[in-house]
Amino acid sequence: MQRAWMITLVWAAGALAQSGPRLLLTPEDFARVKALAQQQSWARSVYDAIVLAAEDWPKTHLQRYGLSVWEVPPEGGQWSQHYICKVHGVSLQFHPPDKHVCPVDGQVYSGWPYDQVIYGRRHSESAAAARDNGLAWQFTRRPEFARAAARILLAYADVYLSYPLKDVNNRPDTSGAARVTAQTLDEAVWLITMAWAYDLISDSDALNQAERRHVEQDLLRPAASLIMRNNRGMSNWQSWHNAAIGAVGFTLRDQALVAAAIDGPSGFRYQMRASVQADGVWYEGAWGYHFYALDPLCQLAEMAARAQIDLWAEPSLRSMFEAPLKFALPDGTLPNFNDSGNVSLYNYDRLYELAYARYADPLFATVLGRRARGREALFWGAPELPAAQPPPLPSFVFEASGNAILRARANDHYVAFKFGPHGGGHGHYDKLNFISFWNGGIMAVDPGTQSYAAPTHSTWDKMTVAHNTLVVDERTQSEATGNLHGFALLPDVSAVRADAGQAYRQAELVRTLLLTPEYLVDLFEARARDGRPHRYDWVYHNYGALSSPLPLELYTAFPKSEGYQHLSNARAAVTGHAWQANFDMNQTASTVYGSVWTSVSGIRASYEYSREQASAGRFSGKLSYDFSAASGYILFSTPALSGLPREAPAQLSVMIYGDGSGHRLALRLYDSTDERFVYTVGPVNWTGWRQITASEPQSWSHYLGNNDGVFDPPVKTVSVELSYTAGGPLRGTLYVDEIALEYAGKGWLQVTGFERPLRNLRLWMLAEPGTTVVLGEGLGPNLLVPVPFVMARRQSVETRFVTLLEPWAETPAINAFELLPDERLRIVSDQFEDKLWFDGHSRLEFVRRVEGALRRLALAGQQQLSDEERVLVELPQPASLQVDYAEDGQRAEIALEGEPEGELRLWGPRLRQISINGSALECRREEDYCVVKLSPAMR
Ligand SMILES: [Zn+2]
Ligand SMILES: [Zn+2]
Repeated sequence: MQRAWMITLVWAAGALAQSGPRLLLTPEDFARVKALAQQQSWARSVYDAIVLAAEDWPKTHLQRYGLSVWEVPPEGGQWSQHYICKVHGVSLQFHPPDKHVCPVDGQVYSGWPYDQVIYGRRHSESAAAARDNGLAWQFTRRPEFARAAARILLAYADVYLSYPLKDVNNRPDTSGAARVTAQTLDEAVWLITMAWAYDLISDSDALNQAERRHVEQDLLRPAASLIMRNNRGMSNWQSWHNAAIGAVGFTLRDQALVAAAIDGPSGFRYQMRASVQADGVWYEGAWGYHFYALDPLCQLAEMAARAQIDLWAEPSLRSMFEAPLKFALPDGTLPNFNDSGNVSLYNYDRLYELAYARYADPLFATVLGRRARGREALFWGAPELPAAQPPPLPSFVFEASGNAILRARANDHYVAFKFGPHGGGHGHYDKLNFISFWNGGIMAVDPGTQSYAAPTHSTWDKMTVAHNTLVVDERTQSEATGNLHGFALLPDVSAVRADAGQAYRQAELVRTLLLTPEYLVDLFEARARDGRPHRYDWVYHNYGALSSPLPLELYTAFPKSEGYQHLSNARAAVTGHAWQANFDMNQTASTVYGSVWTSVSGIRASYEYSREQASAGRFSGKLSYDFSAASGYILFSTPALSGLPREAPAQLSVMIYGDGSGHRLALRLYDSTDERFVYTVGPVNWTGWRQITASEPQSWSHYLGNNDGVFDPPVKTVSVELSYTAGGPLRGTLYVDEIALEYAGKGWLQVTGFERPLRNLRLWMLAEPGTTVVLGEGLGPNLLVPVPFVMARRQSVETRFVTLLEPWAETPAINAFELLPDERLRIVSDQFEDKLWFDGHSRLEFVRRVEGALRRLALAGQQQLSDEERVLVELPQPASLQVDYAEDGQRAEIALEGEPEGELRLWGPRLRQISINGSALECRREEDYCVVKLSPAMR
């Protein structure tokens, strides 16, 4: 009650003082934005792009949809998820005005719901155009912009209530049904944009009093009421609902709507309490939905801020920004668990712009500055960004959402392990699943999700066998919440153990994962609850080409249901011995480099990393062309380059592997204004490698950009241009390598040698009589690229799958892997001998020797660690530490956790220097030990 009263007070005072927009940007904000655009070039280009978009309306829109005049579509839009080929499950391509084409076989779809999906795009673009014209009106005060926004608003006010209600299945009577779209979720997304457009032109005379009433009473209010009818409680939908209800409420100064959006039974504050778990992860456990829900939460917080209500102070909101940073893979993407693709943190830089501006935490700025700053930065962001490098991340356990992120300090080996709550309607039946990453790429893979209308969404994506876990009796798991048994997280040794809860009534599953920089050990236990034998299928999916020395034969024993029907090319062997398989991730042909542009849409071309040829190193760029459908030219371009000198290059050198085709070749350099400098090589009349050198770009032909003939540094892109010449082959392949630029005084700088790290993974499972090993292919995140799997099948009451997963580059190094009778793991490689033990709770012991000498110790939840002969380290109380010996045992670096007080004794006859958590300490010698006094000051 008090809060509603406060809003009244603020508005009463504000109403007199303030006219003009107030929803997301106020007149003061616009003054700030204009000043910023004067000062900073990135802000200027965002600002100019908005005015250009407004000026362009509706020209490009009409071309895109094959229309001659802008009007509202004849009916509401349909669910975008419908826009897939029924046979291949892939997205359709729109050929205006009304054809919907499968990219795989050219099959043309028409009518419902495809036409309506396109109407939906038109509705959404028209709302965006109303908003952009409103922004352009505020920027320029040119009345035609306000009039364009008003025209769109009025056109929708005219038709809104006449559009029939329907849901994604075209039913009029369900709670999700909407008018302009097919669900209240999408109606909310659309309504926020329309409400803002209305707010932005509130200080123009483009709408008279009667027209304003028309927009408010026939569009904004009925749309808000429609959304309010569908209370979705804990959900990403409700976050959008709240923001839309709030958008109308703040725009129209309707206290009841604002109160519902913020403090209502499903309002913003309820979402913060119920939908955000204690560790900051959105309850659906799908990162796509985490960010999808975060977006409207931020929008509502910005709207509220302009009415002096501080929603940014909610700790749960801040935690939603922190959790993904702790969770992310080394490349900044997030695991595609549940109904989510591999979303990248950096694609949500627009939300982190707001987080950094509001919280001023430099950690949030580490997500920023990788791409050009955009609208959110201009409107709500900090004027300047700090040069912040992300700190190295340790391992984390997310107890509330049930995830463990294991990392190694020494390299980018990473595992995300999932055991938590199911995640509602978007959950997958994949308890104890994990994905992994090493040397720049994903290894263990989750299929993520296809369109919800794709048949494989329910027959594969959600199924247990599609994940890296264990299937009992060939049946998919039940909805369940697993239990964390324990964990130990040290810089280079980490361990976690969890069970699958009630995923299977008939069996208990418990998995332990242990990660080091060099390997991952997986101990997967399955135990019948009914004392009877069951079938246990341990399954693992990994990118690459799979092979095994096992004598494999055709295998046809899989059932035709529960996802197994999608396992193809199955070959199997029965073994009672330890066995191995290898995934070679270097041959994968689909690793795209840079980008391709064709002068005519029928030309096909690709630019990929390749190991087929190389003029130096192992890889080159493979340029594939196909002129069979159309002739013209192709540009094969590097990604946008950075870090090149701010001066014009003197020379360009490129290695080209010719195919003797006679097609014409040219090289292009783009300067910082996008001016193209083109050097003509001539026909490709050679085969094999040839070096092409071209000097003085300013003497080449030039066009576009600022077209002043002056090379404005730095070089932005290097492109290879291939033009069709009559008589040449229609299809072919060139390779490019060693692209380099020469600068006066600096010499040659390599732009790219196309080199990539080599990546393989060896899987090594210990012996168990009667194990059937099956290799084959399953589906992956891209339905057109199968992903190999390996499965170990056993029939028993109780079993344990003990597996080592070793990523390797040049040659695998591990030559012994055993589980000793005392449950210690022994792992021996060309470089080290490790002994590793974890009790499944919090106690861990790790000893690494190199040529017999101690190299690394790790201890968790214990007071001392011994080998066969002596105590190696002793603490005053149980704690966790990792000791790294260096300089032939003369120096030891200790990472210590916890707050033990007293003396630490560390074995080391040659030890002369000890540092703990980075600070050097005096130590006292006691025979073969070094003794240091621990004090709180060292933490
Ligand atoms: Zn198709
Ligand atoms: Zn999944």
